[in-house]
Amino acid sequence: MGVPNRLKSMIRDVPDFPKPGIIFKDITPLLADPCGLSLAVELMANQWRDDRPDLVVGTESRGFIFGTAIAQSLSCGFVPIRKPGKLPYETRSVKYDLEYGSDEVQIHVDAISAGQRVLMVDDLIATGGTMKAACELVTMVGGEIMGVAVLIELMNLGGRELIGPVPIHALLQY
Ligand code: AMP
Repeated sequence: MGVPNRLKSMIRDVPDFPKPGIIFKDITPLLADPCGLSLAVELMANQWRDDRPDLVVGTESRGFIFGTAIAQSLSCGFVPIRKPGKLPYETRSVKYDLEYGSDEVQIHVDAISAGQRVLMVDDLIATGGTMKAACELVTMVGGEIMGVAVLIELMNLGGRELIGPVPIHALLQY
């Protein structure tokens, strides 16, 4: 079995979670597997090893798992993007639309210095709305987005098109 299929075998499909019609990609078996976690992190990090970012930015909450590990692997810092009301210092916010209603993400106003090159990390791109909002937030506080790294891309939802012209590397595509 090739590496992508080996990793895919550690991801569990949970139908109708969190609501009817969604097939949730449950990565907890991959995280619990010592080879699965380290393989996924190193393969995600390898794409950016020759041209390293200054910072990795990860989005709450599964983006923290891969973001911090990739930051450590690339020897750069990590900055969290969080849901409203979680960050203690002054923040900037971006609101974005969901299928029903809207959501919001926040970053500390001083988290990124002007011109720092940022690698955006999350576990999964579906519609791309979360990543697009996260990218807007980073740009708003002065960061320069060099790329996006995710474990999983759900290809039929058009996330890549929504996020726009930035290099996107997805380790596993469905
Ligand atoms: P989106 O904004 O639609 O690209 O959704 C991305 C965010 O929602 C990511 O942070 C994922 O963790 C989560 N997500 C969306 N769809 C799924 C899915 N089918 N399985 C697991 N997580 C998902």
